[in-house]
Amino acid sequence: MTSPLTYTAFDDIQDSVALLRLNFDTGKSRSIDFRKFQIQQLYDLVKDNEERFYEAMAKDMNKPRSEALSGDIAPVLEECLYFLENIDRLVKDEKVKPRLGMNAMETVKVRHDPLGVVLVIGCWNYPVQLSLVPLVGAIAAGNAAILKLSEVSAHTAALLTELIPRYLNQSLYRVVNGAVEETTYLLQHKFDHIFYTGSPMVGKIVMAAASKHLTGVTLELGGKSPAVITPEADMQTVANRIAFGKFYNCGQICIAVDYVLCPASQLDAFVSAFTKTVKEWFGENPKNSKDYARLVSVRHVDRIAGMIENRKSGGIQFGGQVDRDERYIAPTLITDVKFDDDVLMGDEIFGPVLPVITYNELDEAITMIKKNHPPLVLYVFSKKQKLIDQVLRNTQSGGVCVNDTLMHQAEYSLPFGGIGNSGVGNYHGHRSFRAFTHERAILQKKQKMEFTNKVRYPPYNSTRDAILRHFLVTHPLVVSLRQNRGPIKTAIILVLLFVIYLKKRA
Ligand code: NAD
Repeated sequence: MTSPLTYTAFDDIQDSVALLRLNFDTGKSRSIDFRKFQIQQLYDLVKDNEERFYEAMAKDMNKPRSEALSGDIAPVLEECLYFLENIDRLVKDEKVKPRLGMNAMETVKVRHDPLGVVLVIGCWNYPVQLSLVPLVGAIAAGNAAILKLSEVSAHTAALLTELIPRYLNQSLYRVVNGAVEETTYLLQHKFDHIFYTGSPMVGKIVMAAASKHLTGVTLELGGKSPAVITPEADMQTVANRIAFGKFYNCGQICIAVDYVLCPASQLDAFVSAFTKTVKEWFGENPKNSKDYARLVSVRHVDRIAGMIENRKSGGIQFGGQVDRDERYIAPTLITDVKFDDDVLMGDEIFGPVLPVITYNELDEAITMIKKNHPPLVLYVFSKKQKLIDQVLRNTQSGGVCVNDTLMHQAEYSLPFGGIGNSGVGNYHGHRSFRAFTHERAILQKKQKMEFTNKVRYPPYNSTRDAILRHFLVTHPLVVSLRQNRGPIKTAIILVLLFVIYLKKRA
């Protein structure tokens, strides 16, 4: 099938970057009314064309309408509304209480300046959310932006390419399309921030390109996110929630449950509950289910089919069927997988295959998690707070979701991002605003009381140094008084009450 997407010519990429730089410098994108109008336009773009987005995502990966609504359309609409409601508050200068005694009477504040011309590189699995949510943040923060859409979800990219120029101001927001060559060329240009969503491998390429211009990056990457089950967990509930986190969009989600760590004593219970869930949701033959997505490309089908076929451990409990022409891989459960199986446990699966590894003591499970890079998310299923704490205290991850999957990402009041190999920085809501903002420190003084500055001007002497020290370094006694504010207040009140009592008696 021929691609519906036309790649952007190198000359056009160059012209777009130059034009955006020129137009950013006019200050137009900084106007709050302008930002609000563009965000409203982005909201309308999605709302007016909702049906077309569902069709495009269905063509790209047979994404079920309900999953496209919850994973793509709703988050963008909600984020636009959040910024329309909160932008006035977010852009306000932030008054800061000075720490230095010598600034006690001065204006000390932080201004939220745009970074400049930013590049957003979207990803294909949530081609609307992962392109437009960062873009809303970039617009809200007052930047000009180039949006590089993913060529892999070509139908959705083609639709966005048609719509964005109709709704957004073309002198400040531009779309670029292409694959590796175009992205490589784009990355040679100087941007003021790069926001990338995709694999850790390409994340390193993006970071290396950014470093040539000392450009800051936000990297939203992936990795192997585990789900740990503790022995007393309610297995049917756990099975439902893990199945949701594994088969949503056919496992093509950065926060999918990559593998399960199950107590050996509970393996049978988990397998039977999980099998029941999958049958209830997708029927005897999931290929016929309208609620089961397809893989986005034959390359990914081959990659995941290869993982199933060449695995070095584990037995298939159900699934394993592959139809390359339909880009279909059945929901697949593999048990008795060994942690050192470098086929199933080497790279992120990013598809509908769930390996289960058993453990005897919780510490064994924790040791396995720690052998991998810190994941984007860690799932813990437990009814015991002590066990949840034990896992969290001994591990690292971008985020944590206890007794559920995926839903922490939908909670936009939380920061979303990885740590180490799973990402750099975070976003959503006010954190997106911060990701695209320069916090400009402002100390504003008046041209009065010049005599007070003598203490820091030459000629220096020991008396001036002693006074200077007093203004620059807080006395330890003051620190200790501040730390004990509560008890000191109580003591003062008690003394006062005692004095009143004595006076009344006298
Ligand atoms: P990818 O990283 O291979 O590609 C993303 C884009 O980068 C492509 O569309 C392409 O234009 C460009 N690209 C690819 N190779 C390049 C190269 N060599 N040089 C320059 N540019 C290049 O994307 P993928 O691997 O298909 O995406 C899946 C990964 O993304 C998974 O690891 C997943 O976990 C991660 N992901 C993370 C998030 C998140 O929010 N953290 C969301 C979705 C996906």
